[in-house]
Amino acid sequence: MRTRIINAHTLEPATGERRADAWIDIADGRIADSGVGKPPTPHGDARVIDAEGGTVMPGLVDAHVHITVTSTDHADRAGWTPGYTTVRALRSAGDMLRRGFTTVRDVGGADYGMARALDEGLAPGPRLIFGGKALSQTGGHGDFRPLIDESQPCCQLKPDFGRIADGVDAVRHAARDEFRKGAHHLKLVVSGGVASPTDEISAVQYTAEEIRAAVVEAENHNRYVTVHAYHPRAVNQALREGVRCVEHGNLIDEESIRLLVERDAFLVPTIITYEAMYEAGAGSGLSGGSLRKLDEVRSAAIDALEQAHRAGVNLVYGSDLLGDLQVRQLDEFAIRARVQPVMDVIRSATSVAARLLGMEGEIGTLEQGALADLLVLDGDPGEDIRILTAPKRHLRHVIRAGAVDSWL
Ligand code: ZN
Ligand code: ZN
Repeated sequence: MRTRIINAHTLEPATGERRADAWIDIADGRIADSGVGKPPTPHGDARVIDAEGGTVMPGLVDAHVHITVTSTDHADRAGWTPGYTTVRALRSAGDMLRRGFTTVRDVGGADYGMARALDEGLAPGPRLIFGGKALSQTGGHGDFRPLIDESQPCCQLKPDFGRIADGVDAVRHAARDEFRKGAHHLKLVVSGGVASPTDEISAVQYTAEEIRAAVVEAENHNRYVTVHAYHPRAVNQALREGVRCVEHGNLIDEESIRLLVERDAFLVPTIITYEAMYEAGAGSGLSGGSLRKLDEVRSAAIDALEQAHRAGVNLVYGSDLLGDLQVRQLDEFAIRARVQPVMDVIRSATSVAARLLGMEGEIGTLEQGALADLLVLDGDPGEDIRILTAPKRHLRHVIRAGAVDSWL
């Protein structure tokens, strides 16, 4: 199936280059050719999409989602069957595609079956880059057992955010097990978190030796480790041990920034999740203890983004919204645009995200040969970010691997 887009104003995020009166040919799910002015005679029965002078740009990447966490009621979620969890997750994936996200990176929960179902077109949704279950120490951010629960959660075939692994050998085994199951990356939680019931935000989780074991396993598998972390003690230890990416990073210090730059590592701030939880208050489903922890990280988030931007850290778009709050997935754009130039924010969700995912030349670009993951918009988001954040008004088409508006 071939598709041709005509009358397009193209936007290449990496360079910021625009081309007016452009055309793009799509074949076999990839960008086959493109040019300016009158296109060559089409091959046979190509579908033609008239962009009517609107902007065509690469589809968006959200590098921090949890597609299985479609409710913040943990007690209820713990009783869901794999089937119910998956149906809900795929519905949420479809909503993400309709917002313009053609690739998402799941950092806790999604598995190979969900990625396969989306790749096979069994349900509409973005390309799903998954890391399986996040590794957590006992009592860490991935340990959601209530205090009364003495069970030993390990490896049951049950959808969940995380799994518990303590000690170098157990971390090594869990890492190998997640890679066996196709994980594209490995996620470790190395500091306290907001939603977990018992840990403190400033807690350091995992030792240098355990993190190092995970990094060695990831490198042996040609993969990388990303970590959930807020506090510089946790962030800096993880960076020194060789992790490639830091999620959140709200409380980072100068040393964190220095390490991020020196090691060409990535930072995925997720500021919208704190704003959305704060605005929803008790309606977010968070306990009183979690809402108190939220205060500790929310106020520092913008300052961390400013510092990282000024220092030239590789910044990638992330939302981390759970449950009903996932509808706010595009609102991170507006928050970032208060701190960074709009084109930098767009790069964080396209070309820089592609580099984090090891998919340069495949996604986040209009280059010939790239996957045809494209948005057709009625204006230029490089001029006004609101073009991206109101898809019902401005997003005319979403193309994923050449499939146009695949939910129709
Ligand atoms: Zn996290
Ligand atoms: Zn998360």
